[in-house]
Amino acid sequence: MKKNWLITLIVVFLIFSIATPPVLGATKGSTMAEVQKKITSLTKQVKDLKNKLGLKIKETDKLKKEKSALQNQIKTKDLSNKNKDIQIVNLNKAIKEKDINLLDLTESINDKNIEISDLSESIVEKDETIEELHKKIKQLEQLSSVNFIYTDEKGNLLSSNSKNAIKWYEFRTDQITIYLTAKAFNEFGYIIDISDEVVTDICQYFNGNQLPQNMAVFISFNDTVSKATSGEYFAGEKRAFIRGESFYPHNRYTQESLVDVYVHELTHAFQDALAPNLFNANVSSGGLYWLTEGMASYVEHQFIPYENYAIPEGHLTSEHKYNKEEYRAKILRSIKENNIDMDSFTKLPERMKMYKSYEIYESLIYFIENKYNHNTLLTYTKSLETQDPINSFMPTFKTTEEQFINDWKEYYSLK
Ligand SMILES: [Zn+2]
Repeated sequence: MKKNWLITLIVVFLIFSIATPPVLGATKGSTMAEVQKKITSLTKQVKDLKNKLGLKIKETDKLKKEKSALQNQIKTKDLSNKNKDIQIVNLNKAIKEKDINLLDLTESINDKNIEISDLSESIVEKDETIEELHKKIKQLEQLSSVNFIYTDEKGNLLSSNSKNAIKWYEFRTDQITIYLTAKAFNEFGYIIDISDEVVTDICQYFNGNQLPQNMAVFISFNDTVSKATSGEYFAGEKRAFIRGESFYPHNRYTQESLVDVYVHELTHAFQDALAPNLFNANVSSGGLYWLTEGMASYVEHQFIPYENYAIPEGHLTSEHKYNKEEYRAKILRSIKENNIDMDSFTKLPERMKMYKSYEIYESLIYFIENKYNHNTLLTYTKSLETQDPINSFMPTFKTTEEQFINDWKEYYSLK
């Protein structure tokens, strides 16, 4: 949309003005005044057009009356009289001319109507611009009163502002401390309001097993953060970093929206709370990606009731609640993408094996959720705290790994 660049420009000005408060008022005032002026001028144009339209409609009515008067005259003529015949021909000719005039007028009325609706649309857009500006100003006022911290681009805390430091605004919710840069706040501020609901819903997946401590999530947007390439949970630090520009709607090539990734990374935190060893690469169960990534993706796509959250329009992809057939298609695509030989795929993916896409991992979790049950999956996850994945598999799933994969292939008709 055309107005986007205008808003961006204005927001950039406004962000600048936080550092130098006096400018804020000036920028705010002149911008608002300009938009208001434009609206007044557009409204006047609409009024003029409506007046013109009224005149045209009056003219049309007049022509219609004249036409029907002529038609009445014809009716009352005596058809046996030759002179009268000529009169009738003339009258018919006159009617035809009136018809042409009427047609022209109708066309002209249609044009005016189109013009009016275009202008009205433009007025609505301007009104929206004003509303957006008010919102941004309110947000900026909000930011000026919250706590903030500085980090370097790798996420290390800095004691004060310095060159290249990143400023993070701090928002404490019940269980998560959300850090947003000014740009991220502008783009994803809604996450603050929905975070508690998200945490409560993920917690249900883990049968009520809570996070043991407050966790920090850092969300940036087109900032210079390099701690994570897109979204990542750091178990050792109990922090997650998410780069908003990597996700929908800012990156149209991804099927993940920011709130999806928020759910995904928080799910890792809950896994960490349930079985910390999952994230400890030094122990036997370390880096069990099919389980950790599969489950986080499953919670993200299948479990969370996004429709309950106040997510702004256009901020959520439709990539949720896949059915079995869709999983099958995703598995086949993933097999191709990862160069997997289906015949030699007879065991669970290796512990540290990271596929380019998580679809196969997720399909394994979907399979367990549907063919076994949810508690089997949680029991298995929890058991990895004390046992290794192989020793724990048989007692939990009551089958061999080979048979399990065989059943998985059968379930998705992959054989
Ligand atoms: Zn993950």
